[in-house]
Amino acid sequence: MKHLILFDVDGTLLRCGRQVGAMFVDALTEVFGDCSAFTDQDRLKGYSFAGKTDPRIVVDLIRATGRRDEEILPHLAAVEKIYVENLERGLDPGRVRLLPGVRELLERLSAREDVLVGLLTGNWRRGARIKLSCFDLERYFAFGAFGDDAIDRCDLGPVALQRAAVLSGRPFALDRSLIVGDTVLDVECARSAGIRSMAVATGFTEAEPLEAAGADWVFADLERAAGQIERFTAPSPVVTPAAHGD
Ligand SMILES: [Mg+2]
Repeated sequence: MKHLILFDVDGTLLRCGRQVGAMFVDALTEVFGDCSAFTDQDRLKGYSFAGKTDPRIVVDLIRATGRRDEEILPHLAAVEKIYVENLERGLDPGRVRLLPGVRELLERLSAREDVLVGLLTGNWRRGARIKLSCFDLERYFAFGAFGDDAIDRCDLGPVALQRAAVLSGRPFALDRSLIVGDTVLDVECARSAGIRSMAVATGFTEAEPLEAAGADWVFADLERAAGQIERFTAPSPVVTPAAHGD
């Protein structure tokens, strides 16, 4: 039977550094006007993008200006468009870091016919594609659930499971499905979907809070996690029914 592995992007596969936050704030400013009062570096320090979906970040930051959700939600598409254009134009691949063990792991998993590999990320789909294209990683993922699909990360688990089932023609067993991510929100997403979670401390969250959140496994990085992923996806032994009678 097949296993399903769903990977987060930022902090799990790669790190873009500080360049992306500025592009996001520029898009907010273009759509909602001067946001400097709440998006200057000092105030942003109190807000973590980690694990949040792109639309959740927009809603959280613009709510802080006193706007109501009805004034924010209709503009999500406009923010996305400008942010993605900013990424396309401005993302410097030289400042994006591929995290340890990522390519080797994805190479091995993609060679397996009994493993389906997908994305579960808060990035808008087009943003994820631009980031992954820095290292030609997109080709390893058959499908994904993205920030386009829901505002809250926990709602992305069912979307990913549904798409995986459509793609393979049958649902995946929950105990054979795994979310790999770098934040407490990735762990919570897996728990709410009833599937296993593996956390890597390659983002901004240390191992301890990831363990406290209830991750099934926590590793320093994907290089060290690879062995456990191999064990998790190992084919089950074929059980031959015992012969009965004479
Ligand atoms: Mg992440």
